[in-house]
Amino acid sequence: MIRVEKLNKYFGNLHVLKDVNFSVRESDVVVLIGASGSGKSTLLRCMNFLEVKTSGSITIEGTQVEPKKANLNKIREKVGMVFQHFNLFPHKTVLQNVIEGPIQVKKVPKSTAVKEGKELLDKVGLLEKKDVYPSKLSGGQKQRVAIARSLAMKPDVMLFDEPTSALDPELVGEVLATMKTLANDGMTMVVVTHEMGFAREVADFVCYMHDGRIVESGQPERIFDHPQEQRTQEFLGSIL
Ligand code: ATP
Ligand code: MG
Repeated sequence: MIRVEKLNKYFGNLHVLKDVNFSVRESDVVVLIGASGSGKSTLLRCMNFLEVKTSGSITIEGTQVEPKKANLNKIREKVGMVFQHFNLFPHKTVLQNVIEGPIQVKKVPKSTAVKEGKELLDKVGLLEKKDVYPSKLSGGQKQRVAIARSLAMKPDVMLFDEPTSALDPELVGEVLATMKTLANDGMTMVVVTHEMGFAREVADFVCYMHDGRIVESGQPERIFDHPQEQRTQEFLGSIL
């Protein structure tokens, strides 16, 4: 579904992604872990073309995407992204936030967008909040709206960059539960997170990044219980 081959990214002289090979199959949940600065966000942002790669190839659904040529808006419709900070439109209600993209970008008729938007809000457990403004929501609720808003574009794959790390601890669980539901529904997902419980329970694969490379990847049991690489062991030892 997504294949990244020999991806390199420089910021000036800083070599941030080093020959990264990475692939995600349909309906898989891949969790990316690694220390701060190891390149996790940059990898996600390259996969969504928020950053332009320096070299290497990115293939989405069998098509190799060259950011300059392709229609990036079309690609971004296929690849949804949820960030640490949710950036909802403050002057729009919850439902208006969710239907904005489909109506403005995809030209979906408003009645259809409203119907689908309500279904999505129901799915993330927030239908009763559809007419309130984001300022009236908790952080966890805002993040669930952000997930619904991203899903409204009907992406093929969803990228999550530390979706719970800005939340108060008691709000983390509801967002992870929403993501777990999504995974169980068969959504293809790449998730950067420090929530190792989630990784262990939901991930099909865990990739450990260190200094711009994926140094180890495998099923969660193998990575968490039997890491082969010393760097992975040290990282896990430092956080678990
Ligand atoms: P964290 O866990 O802290 O979010 P990360 O693994 O997501 O870290 P990245 O944000 O991908 O790491 O950053 C990788 C490296 O690239 C870091 O050294 C960072 O300082 C650098 N970097 C990221 N974005 C830029 C940018 N726009 N310009 C210059 N350097 C950048
Ligand atoms: Mg990051």
